[in-house]
Amino acid sequence: MNEKEIAWDKAPDGSVRVNDYNLGEIKQLLNSVGPGFCLAKWNQVTLHLGRGHTHSCHHPASHKIPLAELVKNPSALHNTEFKKQQRKTMLEGKRPEECDYCWRNEDENNWSDRQYKSMEYWALDDYDYISKKLNGNEDVYPKYMEVSFGNTCNQKCTYCGPESSSQWVSEIKKNGPIKVLAGTNNEQWTHGWQDDLDSFNYKNNEHNPYIDAFWEWWPEAYKHLKVFRITGGEPLLSKETFKIIDWMTEHRNPDLEFHINSNLNVPDETWNKFIKKIEVLKDSPNINNFSLYTSVEGWGERAEYARTGLDFKKFKQRYEQVVGMGNVRCVIMATYNIFSVTSFKSLLEWQLGLRKKYNCNPSVRNVENAGWHTRTGKSNLELYEVNSNHKSVVGIDIPYLRHPIMLDAHICTHDLVEKYMIPNLNFLASNMSELRWWNHQGFETYEFEKLRRIILHRLFYNQPKDNPLDDRKDLMVLRAKFYDFINQIDTRNNTSFINTFPEMKHFYDMCEKAYSSERKTI
Ligand code: SF4
Repeated sequence: MNEKEIAWDKAPDGSVRVNDYNLGEIKQLLNSVGPGFCLAKWNQVTLHLGRGHTHSCHHPASHKIPLAELVKNPSALHNTEFKKQQRKTMLEGKRPEECDYCWRNEDENNWSDRQYKSMEYWALDDYDYISKKLNGNEDVYPKYMEVSFGNTCNQKCTYCGPESSSQWVSEIKKNGPIKVLAGTNNEQWTHGWQDDLDSFNYKNNEHNPYIDAFWEWWPEAYKHLKVFRITGGEPLLSKETFKIIDWMTEHRNPDLEFHINSNLNVPDETWNKFIKKIEVLKDSPNINNFSLYTSVEGWGERAEYARTGLDFKKFKQRYEQVVGMGNVRCVIMATYNIFSVTSFKSLLEWQLGLRKKYNCNPSVRNVENAGWHTRTGKSNLELYEVNSNHKSVVGIDIPYLRHPIMLDAHICTHDLVEKYMIPNLNFLASNMSELRWWNHQGFETYEFEKLRRIILHRLFYNQPKDNPLDDRKDLMVLRAKFYDFINQIDTRNNTSFINTFPEMKHFYDMCEKAYSSERKTI
């Protein structure tokens, strides 16, 4: 089959719509090569240069890039012999084991990322070339590259760990690793089980052959990229991030979407330097557009509790500064977890206000062209002028947290579901964007779907009718782990969960009861 033979359902701008019809078509197209064929194995890469790892896509575990391969060929960053073997497996009509994330979804008759990713514009255009001309042995350039230059970070968020945060490395060296329910049948490491914490990452001042290879490969790789994203650690604490911004300011790739992740909490001097440089790059013709991604999952001191080291006031002020700069999209990645439940609505309310202030509403531009005012503050024509590169400026992504498992929001008690979780979803559903008049002024369908998926999972995972006492054994074990975990965190950080979240007292008491019961089993 050829990609061009498919009658895609396309949006007016020519992009392939993400809908059931197209997802069905892409599945057939991919399966005409084999049931494991996926374009992301060629066109997408995530590089962890601090520890010399690569994977395509980000779902399979990352693997070490052999230095012997890199010395001969810097493109081994994306084309290790191991990865080539996975590509061959796909072209031979088999499913690589490392992609089990997708096979689980497909075997349960759900759409998988194999379909979603292969339908992306940075992948689909190469379907015919990859499926007809390649045999898996070739070195290819990725179209979507995500790179971490190291784990240097100024925060040690509760659900992060030493692989991605140097603060967690220091914490574990100083106060030891964290294990919950130690000595019971349900004991579990949460942080620091690894043998050698220093082997994770080259230090900022150490010579790193993976970074050398990256710079050797980069000038040519850059020309092929459609999306480039820098992640961390905290990217703004890496000198490589500034070096690459400078490089891009002098070299053109007008198709490129450039993204940076940041916790928005770096020292003032670093922040001001970043703003100065990005102001120049984002408005230059060298790239197509720039987006800043940041992370927060709750509001105020509750958010600070979950993300140890976060100054929420500074975070909020800098987010609003970036949103107001023009020509930038600023997305919050709100990984919904147990600490999110009681303050998530405040986060949504803030987001909603910013949408009304900064997101342009293209549906009423004709009305405004005729001289009518449709909003207070800046008109949509003015907003379009300053943000012509982005459909909407303010966005939120709501993935769910799965690790460490005792921070998953599905362990919360029934009272929290009724008082917070359902109202959170109701609030979002009552403030949706509306295509013909209220476009981008509320939440988008894909944002609603992300939160709905999480809340529905909790509603049916632990139902009040089946479990009126809310004390199912497996849940109580998770709650016991949670109790142990936050008490260890409170001792280390000199914090108090119950003082920070007094509204979660019933949940906390249930966790304490579960913990006492687990300790008795020793
Ligand atoms: S099959 Fe799934 S896990 Fe494998 S590369 Fe594609 S999207 Fe990623």
